Amino acid sequence: MPHPNPKEVYGSLVFNEHVMKERLPAATYRSLKATLQKGQPLDIELANVVASFMRDWAIEKGATHYTHWFQSLTGITSEKHDSFISPMKDGTAIMEFSGKELVRGESDASSFPSGGLRATAEARGYTTWDPTSYAFVKDGTLCIPTAFCSWTGEALDEKTPLLRSMKAVSDQACRILKLFGKDIAHVDVTVGLEQEYFLIKKEHYEQREDLILTGRTLFGAAPAKGQELEEHYFGALRPEVSAFMHELDEELWKLGVGAKTKHNEVAPAQHELAPLFDRCNVAVDHNLLTMEFMRRLAPKHGLVCLLHEKPFEGVNGSGKHNNWSLSAPGMNLLDPGDTPMDNLQFLIFFAAVIRAVDEYQDLLRMCIASAGNEHRLGGNEAPPAIVSVFVGDDLAAILDAIASDSRYVAPEAAKIDLGVDVLPKFAKDTTDRNRTSPFAFTGNKFEFRMPGSSANMSDANTVLNTAVAKELKGYADELEQAEDFDTAVIALVKRTIRDHKRVIFNGNGYSKEWEEEAARRGLGSTPAASDALEAMIAPKNLELFRMMGVLSETEARSRYEVKLENYAKVRHIEAGTMMEMTRRQLVPAACAYMTGLANGIAAKKAACPGISCKAEEKALRQLTNYTDAMSDAADRLEAQVEAAEAMTDALAEAKAYHDQVLPAMQALRAAADAAEGICGRDYWPLPSYSTMLFYV
Ligand code: ADP
Ligand code: MG
Repeated sequence: MPHPNPKEVYGSLVFNEHVMKERLPAATYRSLKATLQKGQPLDIELANVVASFMRDWAIEKGATHYTHWFQSLTGITSEKHDSFISPMKDGTAIMEFSGKELVRGESDASSFPSGGLRATAEARGYTTWDPTSYAFVKDGTLCIPTAFCSWTGEALDEKTPLLRSMKAVSDQACRILKLFGKDIAHVDVTVGLEQEYFLIKKEHYEQREDLILTGRTLFGAAPAKGQELEEHYFGALRPEVSAFMHELDEELWKLGVGAKTKHNEVAPAQHELAPLFDRCNVAVDHNLLTMEFMRRLAPKHGLVCLLHEKPFEGVNGSGKHNNWSLSAPGMNLLDPGDTPMDNLQFLIFFAAVIRAVDEYQDLLRMCIASAGNEHRLGGNEAPPAIVSVFVGDDLAAILDAIASDSRYVAPEAAKIDLGVDVLPKFAKDTTDRNRTSPFAFTGNKFEFRMPGSSANMSDANTVLNTAVAKELKGYADELEQAEDFDTAVIALVKRTIRDHKRVIFNGNGYSKEWEEEAARRGLGSTPAASDALEAMIAPKNLELFRMMGVLSETEARSRYEVKLENYAKVRHIEAGTMMEMTRRQLVPAACAYMTGLANGIAAKKAACPGISCKAEEKALRQLTNYTDAMSDAADRLEAQVEAAEAMTDALAEAKAYHDQVLPAMQALRAAADAAEGICGRDYWPLPSYSTMLFYV
């Protein structure tokens, strides 16, 4: 089938700027734009007009329903569909959609996680339109991106704090730009999210309860061949994978998602999709749609998409690289400029990020902590659970020179004295892409590489925006008072680099030496997600969120509860799945094989007294040992789960799942994987790693 012209399908299901301009009466369009620019709520008259045009457009695109599309604290998107139908007395119906329905929806909040907020507030919550993210039609439903709050105004979703943090960083960045003589009303956070994922055959997936229930394999002996040949990276796409990617691109383009790059990743069966960057909230919305369509479209091609951070033990995990920058009209604020003054401005924003990452490294570690990502951090490919920044050798040398008042020796050996007038022209360092850094400056943006593949990226960006906003605020407060602006800026950059140098690291982030060095520098390393989460309620972090108007203490604490609960629940489900699979699938399979062996031995000996049965007897004894070990390990796991469940404190429970349950799961897996290694292939009920990863 020929593929449609991307230009024609792109954005065809989106109520975007172009459609608004074309369809809305000129006056309505102008007032809508003006209201949005000021960030004010829509008045109802205006909303009514917009809603009626939006409805007509959506109906033309095949929509019969509308929904307020929001991101509950489950991390995924939630939707409740209402039809446009409004029955009339005469038995006919009209299609209705009012301004009120567009801008605000009511929703029963009681079934969504709220971390205790629900108990204090009414069960009801309400959703409000986020007009900065366009409405779109999906599956015959007009989806209106919204924020979700409790009736008392507390955020119950991921989007509300994200929008607040974008505002915080914009306000502070504008103050800085003003000092450079630039009167700018708004600074955007730009984000580009590279999404990694695995594709396996649907028939294999369906045979594995662990994949179905937990998204990852809880058992599986290591295959003889892994990713050591690295032949998969950028390799040619298999036909069914290619067909899947084509369809995915097309569906995403219709929704205005700028899917741009796709390729095979390092691990077998692993792939990546990278879209063009967009405004932060839009990029997050688009990433959620991307994950939804990946999951949904794969089965049409006989495949299943795994978005878990570590679906296969011993094989690279999947991450989601968060490319982050700040932009004002015509300017990327993290792009070093051509003139010393531009460079000075760049240095301020750059220094603010360095300082933010150092001051709030615990929060950055916290915001990417999850049960799934815990298997990936410190693993084969991913960054360790230590936050550091890669800046590249050239920039590092310049920063060093600034901090130590020494002369900067440029790569071409030209000596330059550092003063405002003679700040060196920064060479863009795009050649040395350090892949092992958790937070890398890549020429004109920072790339945060710790987030897991399944994460809703609102969290990480909320933390990043808020921390940078706070540092910019500190700078603005100081510089607004400065007598001599240029000198003050240099002094400030100098001080920042001097005080926060420890977080800069350009070497191999995966090496043992770095772990030791990081410890000497006092950088935190928190491999356990349950430990990392505690940073959410550290007093300095609660103060950060409060001060920047991003989360109240109540909101922050409720999120902390939700995260701890989620961690415990995931481990609970995994442990339960393991016990069930062990007792009902794996032990019975091993027993069936052993019965066959025993019968075979008896038959052989009856037929030929004195015959050698060495191979069978050896297998029988070994498998007996492993099967006993499996059965005992399942009992021990059960006891640990019961002990963890009995905890009443959420943190203690999460820690018990990490410290006690997880090792018991690993012990059970080790016994089962050993059994798989000798049990007859036709008897073992689970598709093996090599079957799943190297299908053709
Ligand atoms: P990589 O080598 O990591 O694959 P790319 O150049 O392909 O790097 O870019 C990765 C992502 O970064 C893309 O999604 C791209 O759109 C995004 N990106 C580029 N510039 C910016 C920016 N100024 N702000 C945010 N994201 C950006
Ligand atoms: Mg990248």
